[in-house]
Amino acid sequence: MFYIGNHLSASKGYEAMGKQAVKLGGNVFAFFTRNPRGGKAKEIKEADVEKYLAYAEEHEFGKLVAHAPYTMNLCAAKEDIRNFSREMIADDMKRMEYTPGNYYNFHPGSHVGQGAEKGIEIIADALNSILTKEQSTTVLLETMAGKGTEMGRNFEELREIIDRVELKEKLGVCFDTCHVWDGGYDIVNDLDGVLTEFDHVIGLDRLCAVHFNDSMNDLGSHKDRHQKIGEGKIGLEAMKRVALHPVLAGKPFILETPNDDEGYAKEIAMIREWTS
Ligand code: FE
Ligand code: FE
Ligand code: ZN
Repeated sequence: MFYIGNHLSASKGYEAMGKQAVKLGGNVFAFFTRNPRGGKAKEIKEADVEKYLAYAEEHEFGKLVAHAPYTMNLCAAKEDIRNFSREMIADDMKRMEYTPGNYYNFHPGSHVGQGAEKGIEIIADALNSILTKEQSTTVLLETMAGKGTEMGRNFEELREIIDRVELKEKLGVCFDTCHVWDGGYDIVNDLDGVLTEFDHVIGLDRLCAVHFNDSMNDLGSHKDRHQKIGEGKIGLEAMKRVALHPVLAGKPFILETPNDDEGYAKEIAMIREWTS
């Protein structure tokens, strides 16, 4: 089964997202657990969740890839931002249990001048205080483009975070194609090599989901600007090889491309064409 979908608005609830995903041709989706800029989360309604779960089963959905607000920063220099980010993720962990067994993806953070070593330590400490044995959610660290002081700029940094976390079985990685490309991994000319490196450094068993994006910028630019599939510097053929790579088969592919609904429907149809 090929699982493809895009980021959907959570404002109307789970069932509405499920239906919207299917309307666009998808069988999985991503959503922000709360306003992407942070703040208070919307109340979860059990009746809505029940309807969604039945709908998802009927339509054979893949694992959801929820996304933490991207403004939070677990390794901020300011203690109040760190605490706020930690509390937000801890609260999201409880909310994720309404839909058990899915993924929760987050940007590891920016060390804002404290240095990568310190950043890794703070992120791992935070995860150690958040993760519980009982949770059914797998928390995904996203591969980042390395813009500014962004952490997760290479596989080694993610590995070092994972190494310091006690409940490693609750952790995975989300492979963002735009970010790894911008981070300097040449998935155009050497996709096999990049995946082999991922395997050596992190282990492919941790690669749980794919953010499927083309990039506006060159290899190693550390810019992080997503482009529509086939219209960027990664290009159609290379994106196709990613979608068809056996190592990534069966993982949820999430589009984060600059599109409206019509554009997403077109991209999803195109990718389905490749993979059918
Ligand atoms: Fe992200
Ligand atoms: Fe992403
Ligand atoms: Zn990005």
